Amino acid sequence: MTEDNPVCFGMKNITSITPTICSLMDVPLPSISTEDVIDDILFINKKKSKNVITKCLLYAPDGIGYFLTIRYKDQFKKMAAIAPYSIRLCSVYPPKTPICFASMFTGALPKIHGRERSERTVLKCETIFDTFIKAGKKIAIVAVRSSSIDLIFRERKLDYFSEETDEKVTSRAVELLKQDQHDLIIVYHQEYDDLLHETTPVSPRAIIAMNNHIESFIELGNAFNKFWKKYNRLILFTPDHGAHISREDGRGTHGNNIPEDMVIRHYYNVEKGENK
Ligand SMILES: [Zn+2]
Repeated sequence: MTEDNPVCFGMKNITSITPTICSLMDVPLPSISTEDVIDDILFINKKKSKNVITKCLLYAPDGIGYFLTIRYKDQFKKMAAIAPYSIRLCSVYPPKTPICFASMFTGALPKIHGRERSERTVLKCETIFDTFIKAGKKIAIVAVRSSSIDLIFRERKLDYFSEETDEKVTSRAVELLKQDQHDLIIVYHQEYDDLLHETTPVSPRAIIAMNNHIESFIELGNAFNKFWKKYNRLILFTPDHGAHISREDGRGTHGNNIPEDMVIRHYYNVEKGENK
């Protein structure tokens, strides 16, 4: 546990994603990263692959809270063929998108990486992308144009794909999996977060968006298994934070130190490559 926060009692937080991926793929940690890995993922890899992972696909849908995975569990069950394992994790405070992704990809809490307010300027400190580049790995970030992920990790020698919509992000990512030029692909979608702010976290339109993210993950996962079949590989479904209904205007929002905003669930799987 890296955070002394009662809301997160007993849980690891999203800073553990970076050391876990680095450990599985045998890449050094960013200088400010925690070493607190998610043991369950390492354990599944030991059982299933026993080898270094060479490819990783990380899908980050914005704003999908833990409570959704309970309330709509039948919808999330559809992802089991792609990612049968999951873990309850804590976000970081304040749970706002650029702060969360800065933590997820540096392995550090906001007070350490310094992004404590919701701004989208380039993050200068060392990230997982920097250590991957140093290790000679190829990275693609595929995101909706001008989203946090699209902007805060710029100025690095990696391939940025800024697309107009979630659908275009998905088709670009599938194409990249097919081309097989990258070792780490980050895919970001934002429809659910857009709609929770416009309506509420459980409005019919927001739930359609949530289902779209589930379907997108399944589509990406099928392409991941098809085009990266020969590699030992890791797939992750890693939202940044949850959301609640604001008492002020009755719409969805997030940023508070409460379970609805802070607690999320990450899904994952590792697969052994053919002929390995
Ligand atoms: Zn939001």
